[in-house]
Amino acid sequence: MEKIKKEIVEAIKKHSTIIIHRHVHPDPDALGSQIGLKALLKHSYPSKEVYVVGEHVDRLQFLGKMDVISEDTYMGALVIVCDTANLSRISDSRYAFGNMLIKIDHHPEYETFGDLSWVDPSYNSASEMLVDLCVEFPEDFTMNKEAATSFYAGILSDTGNLMNGNITPRTLKLVSYLRTYDFHPERIHNLLHVKSKNSTRLQQDILMSFKVTDKGVAYFIITEDLLKLYNIDRNEASNLVNTLSSVRANKIWAFFIEYPSEIRIRIRARNTPIDSVARQFNGGGHPLASGATIHSWEEVDQVIQALNQVCP
Ligand code: AMP
Repeated sequence: MEKIKKEIVEAIKKHSTIIIHRHVHPDPDALGSQIGLKALLKHSYPSKEVYVVGEHVDRLQFLGKMDVISEDTYMGALVIVCDTANLSRISDSRYAFGNMLIKIDHHPEYETFGDLSWVDPSYNSASEMLVDLCVEFPEDFTMNKEAATSFYAGILSDTGNLMNGNITPRTLKLVSYLRTYDFHPERIHNLLHVKSKNSTRLQQDILMSFKVTDKGVAYFIITEDLLKLYNIDRNEASNLVNTLSSVRANKIWAFFIEYPSEIRIRIRARNTPIDSVARQFNGGGHPLASGATIHSWEEVDQVIQALNQVCP
């Protein structure tokens, strides 16, 4: 691990253009690690050109905007992919056009890619990895308030606001280090968690009408019609997945979200690993937080059955 981190630092120092990617359907850790790394590199190496690319997400725009760059920019560039376990999930397929590719990720390793790959699931987030890298190489990186804000948002979101079992003494030490950069945690909390009126109303509907199996697998289906009824966008609606965690009897909970050409599934669990089920249905992720994709409503039952089977 030590060797790979040094090699990553050397690669960063060597390249004058650095382009940072992350996964599709980004969450605050995907964006926080990506945008935080850009801020960190711009602050530490002002003469380097650093860009972030990928689809735009309205709800998380406060973390920062994506850059629009041409294919030519990739010539001779270092490309870093944050928080993404597999190639097919990288947002913006031009990641292969650079001079060198680096993967930095905290998901379990199912697909190795990149000229250098730093993968360590003992970190709760890609943001935590980057803060640790910065602390470990003080000669090479200088943190600032902008980077600290993004990394903090990433860590908060991937640890359930520092309430999940994946926080470690290292997490708390690094968060305490970030807090010295005088950002506004309450502002980040509000931007991440305070909901619109429509979202709160949908939340009520979820709690009234979710289904649950005898084994404790709870689920809720978000159709296009439901989105119209509540006048809410897909991202905001899917973000309510942890609404189902507040019911003690629910051991596993899932949202099935209708997209134009697929149904995305967000699966969460209290103690039961569900990533093997996610992998059965074109997905993956962490033991207690995974995602998958199916292509017909008929498959919903199969997913529920598979989740029932892993339930003790
Ligand atoms: P989500 O429900 O989208 O927040 O995803 C939970 C976790 O599973 C995240 O770490 C995602 O990166 C991962 N994940 C979601 N969908 C997929 C997928 N189709 N393939 C692999 N990993 C996924």
